[in-house]
Amino acid sequence: MADVQQAPAAFDGLSFPDGQDDVILVWGDSSVFGPKGRTDWSQTNYENAVVQVLSNIYRSQVGKALIDHLARQDRLVMIMPCTTGDPRTTAMDIHAAFPAGVRERLCTSTGYRHVGARRLLARYTGTGRGSPAAILFTPGAYVGKTSAGERQDEVLLHELVHAIRITTGTQTCRPWGHQMHSVDEVIAITLTNLYSSTLNPPRPLRKDHTGYSAVQGSPEDWIDHMKPALQEFARRNQLLVYHLQRASLQSGFQPFRGSILGSMQL
Ligand SMILES: [Zn+2]
Repeated sequence: MADVQQAPAAFDGLSFPDGQDDVILVWGDSSVFGPKGRTDWSQTNYENAVVQVLSNIYRSQVGKALIDHLARQDRLVMIMPCTTGDPRTTAMDIHAAFPAGVRERLCTSTGYRHVGARRLLARYTGTGRGSPAAILFTPGAYVGKTSAGERQDEVLLHELVHAIRITTGTQTCRPWGHQMHSVDEVIAITLTNLYSSTLNPPRPLRKDHTGYSAVQGSPEDWIDHMKPALQEFARRNQLLVYHLQRASLQSGFQPFRGSILGSMQL
């Protein structure tokens, strides 16, 4: 079990031990992004708050595995204030975020092309190269939130998983059932659940992408509904999944157990 209160000796809460902060950049430039009318907000306060949440994530073995994997991609990930709407993560190079040769629409509802008076849903052909990503996230919006997947660290970790998809050139916005909206939400919610399940004490598991209600019933049944997406993720991220398995040996939530991975060798 990872304990979020227990800091590894090499990490002082201000910088990552192996240069991960060359890749993950926290930018709270108030002149550009600061919420209007907020006197309690400053660039420094914002950046310190995000770094604190990142350091809490990094203290868990699952969080460390995800952040280290993100850093290995060597694509810039900027974390900036989210002033309206839900937190979200966007590719800076849309084509590079999608797998090579795959023609996809954007994960957000804003990807339109305008042809005369017509508004067409835009599709983009991927190159698979991996793109820099921008995360819009404001920690203060989640103070006191305790529902499944809604704590500050869980919300940011969810967005970091989206950033992994973008920086590895594997973003997949294909629709998915079970109120998950897309394959990428399946991956983000599953990996956040894995993180939550390894905390001490374990946190509840988030059920779907429509809100923050908890999984009722057996986690195994929930995982089985996500099986094809998890298999594809494991195939494309074998080193990460190997680290995630090791980090979650004691967990009651095992999305990469043998019956899911089958004969796949990690
Ligand atoms: Zn998401």
